[in-house]
Amino acid sequence: MKLTLIQPRMGCEGATDAMQPLALGILAAQTPPDVEVTLVDERVGDQLLFDDPTDLVALTVETFTAKRAYQIASRFRARGVPVVMGGFHPSLMTGEALRFADSVVIGDAEGIWAGVIEDVRRGVLQRLYRQQSPPPLEGMWVDRTIFAEKSYAPIGLVQYGRGCRYACDFCSIRAFYHSHIRLRPVPEVVAEIASLERKLVFFVDDNLLSDPKAAEKLFRALIPLNIRWACQVSIDITSYPKLLDLMAESGCILALMGFESLDEHNLRQMKKGWNLKIGDYEAAIKRLYERGIMIYGTFVFGYDHDTSDAFSGSLEFAKRHKFCLANFNPLTPTPGTDLYRRLAAEKRLIFDSWWLDDRFRYGQATFHPRGMTAEELEQGCYWARCEFNRATSILGRFLDLKSNLSSLASAYTYIVANLISKREIARKQGLRLGDGSRLGRLEEV
Ligand code: SF4
Repeated sequence: MKLTLIQPRMGCEGATDAMQPLALGILAAQTPPDVEVTLVDERVGDQLLFDDPTDLVALTVETFTAKRAYQIASRFRARGVPVVMGGFHPSLMTGEALRFADSVVIGDAEGIWAGVIEDVRRGVLQRLYRQQSPPPLEGMWVDRTIFAEKSYAPIGLVQYGRGCRYACDFCSIRAFYHSHIRLRPVPEVVAEIASLERKLVFFVDDNLLSDPKAAEKLFRALIPLNIRWACQVSIDITSYPKLLDLMAESGCILALMGFESLDEHNLRQMKKGWNLKIGDYEAAIKRLYERGIMIYGTFVFGYDHDTSDAFSGSLEFAKRHKFCLANFNPLTPTPGTDLYRRLAAEKRLIFDSWWLDDRFRYGQATFHPRGMTAEELEQGCYWARCEFNRATSILGRFLDLKSNLSSLASAYTYIVANLISKREIARKQGLRLGDGSRLGRLEEV
């Protein structure tokens, strides 16, 4: 039996910042050994050969890749190849995904996937497979052989846990995992990192601070590995000085954090009022820089207390504090989130389903903000991104011994990350989702 795993791209071309699709490596690891597995990752330039023999196609789908995934699915289904979809988007928009796929796996695939393969072999593929309860992560492993000879970012990806203890209203992590937090045994994580033989590792966890005690255990275990690592983590980690010390001692050089807004009313509206409990942002930043940890700050615009002045304020803040990287994103309601439901109820959505709409372009506003126009939201975010990534800004932020120049590894990471970021901003803005053909013409299940 032949299985084709597909990581769809967002639009008509690949990306220069693609990381290994860990979810597909986990799926490959769950696949019975007698099945021949091939990975096609469109983001790194793999060509989809729709006529190649295969017995099953499996796609991992996010909201931004849903349109492309549905287009791919229709081509395979037209020649009778069954298509299974999984991931955040099909799990949260199951009815929609089932219009284009033969089957959908809701939730994590561990413990379910081998049964899906068996059903395909017997010709009894079901429409839905659903986790009854979140599976434990003990023994989880990733089959990285499928990534061989593909040009991914030179960084090892590892997962410690899934889920987040917070409930920001725009976040699909919370919508997908609810309040469940699961962690892997630390020795398994350490053994996996050692096997990667990479000096730079990225923890893909949505929030590495899901459990402070567990984080401490992990950081202590990382020290002997002598690696440099980056992560996504909630900003309240700065209120745990001992944990910050361990984070730095174990090799953390970059933390991605959701600052989101400089306005406390916005933070409360997005249910991120806890960002304020740490005191002020300035003190939090100082604590990170005292330990040589660079910052990748993210900001979102379009909450009710934002006006068109918000962009310059956040941009100035990120530049003044020499952030290594920063994102300035239009608030985008993803399906399944509280935010989406609220904006839909308030009749403020511009598109019913922006991710499928032929008029939608990447970077565009998808709803009517209260304090500015939709055009101002789109243009303000793009302006802030461009300004932050100007050569003079990159150089100005670089020359700081406390943060981006605090070590050779930091300096190298800073330069590479900024060059990629600058290129990707120009490439993505205005990108049409999917391959350009109209989804409406595709044959549905
Ligand atoms: S802290 Fe981050 S991962 Fe957690 S709910 Fe908020 S945005 Fe999502």
